[in-house]
Amino acid sequence: MQTSTTIDELVSRWVRPEVRRLAAYHVPEPSDYIKLDAMENPYAWPPALVDQWLERLREVHLNRYPDSGAQLLSNRLREAMGVPAEARILLGNGSDELIQMIALAVGGPGRVILAPEPSFVMYRLIALFAGMQYVGVPLRTHDFGLEMEVMKEAIAATQPAVIFLAYPNNPTGNLFPEEQVAEILRAAPGLVVVDEAYAPFAGASFLAQLGRYGNLLVMRTVSKMGLAGLRLGYLLGDARWIEQLDKVRLPYNINTLTQASAEFALAHRAVFDQQTARIREDRLTLFQSLQGMPGITPFPSRTNFILFRTQVDANQVFATLQRAGILIKNLHGSSTLLENCLRVTVGQPSENQIFLDGLAQAITA
Ligand SMILES: *Cc1c(COP(=O)(O)O)cnc(C)c1O
Repeated sequence: MQTSTTIDELVSRWVRPEVRRLAAYHVPEPSDYIKLDAMENPYAWPPALVDQWLERLREVHLNRYPDSGAQLLSNRLREAMGVPAEARILLGNGSDELIQMIALAVGGPGRVILAPEPSFVMYRLIALFAGMQYVGVPLRTHDFGLEMEVMKEAIAATQPAVIFLAYPNNPTGNLFPEEQVAEILRAAPGLVVVDEAYAPFAGASFLAQLGRYGNLLVMRTVSKMGLAGLRLGYLLGDARWIEQLDKVRLPYNINTLTQASAEFALAHRAVFDQQTARIREDRLTLFQSLQGMPGITPFPSRTNFILFRTQVDANQVFATLQRAGILIKNLHGSSTLLENCLRVTVGQPSENQIFLDGLAQAITA
C-alpha cells in the first residue's frame, strides 16, 4: 500500500500542470434550493406522458450495446428540428462532448480556439484539456456586443482552427447581430461553430445558412428545452466535416436510455414548445420586475436566463439569497466585464416571485 505522500508525488509528476492548476468544476448540491442557477426548464411532464414514457422504456434492452449511430434518434431530430436535408448530424453526450470532439479533431500544438469573452466557459476549459491555445476576445463593456475590429484583428493574428460563437451568448443573454456573425464566418480561416443552445428562446438561427458557408457548423442541445438530464447535443454541418469529427467520437456515446427517451420526447414536442413559450413570456415579466427595482440593472435576454448588475456588492446579494434557499449564479469575479453581475434562470412564476422578494430584501439588507 502506498502512502499518500507518494501519491502526491506521483500526481505532481504525471498529471499535466495545467490540469493540476484548475479548480474542479463546482456544481452546487440541488437539495432544497429554489434552483435558478443552471438554465433548466422548471416544468415536469404531465403524469400521463410519464406513464407512456415508462411503457416505452420497458422495450429497452440494457444488456445490449446501444445503436452506435443512433439512427432512429438522428432521424427524429432532423424532422423535429427542421434540419436542412443536405446537412449531416453528429450526436454528443451533451453539446459539451461535441465541443470536445471538435477540439480533439482539430487540436494540436499551436492550434487556437477563439471565442468572445465572457462566453460559455467550456470553450476555454476544453481548449485547455485538449492542449490547445485559447484566445478570448473581450466583448464591449456596456452591452456585451462584439467589438468587430478587435475580433477581426484577433482572427487575422491568431488564425484560429475554431471560433465558438454562442448565439445567443451565455452568460450575457444577448444575441449578436446576424450580419456580424456572417462577417466572422467570412473572415475565419477555420471552423465557426454557432452554438444555438438557447434556440427555443432566441427566435433566430443559422440553420438555414448551413449550405451557404463551408466553414459553418451549428450546434444545438436538448438541455435548455427541457431535457438536461438526458445529455444530448447535436452538431449539424457539411458531410465532409461531420465524417471527420465522427472519427474521434467514442463508440456508443449516446446510451440506450437517452436514445429511447429522446425519441419519445421529440414525438411529443408540443409539450416542450408550450413550456418554452411560457418561459419566454415569464422572461418578460421577470425582466420588467428587475427593471423596476432600484439598484438593479437587467440586460436584455434572448435566452431563458437574465443577467443583471447590482449597485451593492453582488457577493453579498448572492450569499443572502443562498441563505434564503434561493440559488442563482454569481458571476462577479469571473470577468472584469461582469463586475457585480448575477444570472438568474427563468423559473416557474411562483419561483420567480420568491426570487424577486428575496432580491428586494437582499439589496436593502
Ligand atoms: C448550457 C450550454 C451548453 C451546454 O449544453 P449541454 O448540451 O447541456 O452540454 C452549450 N453551450 C451554451 C452556450 C450553453 O449555455
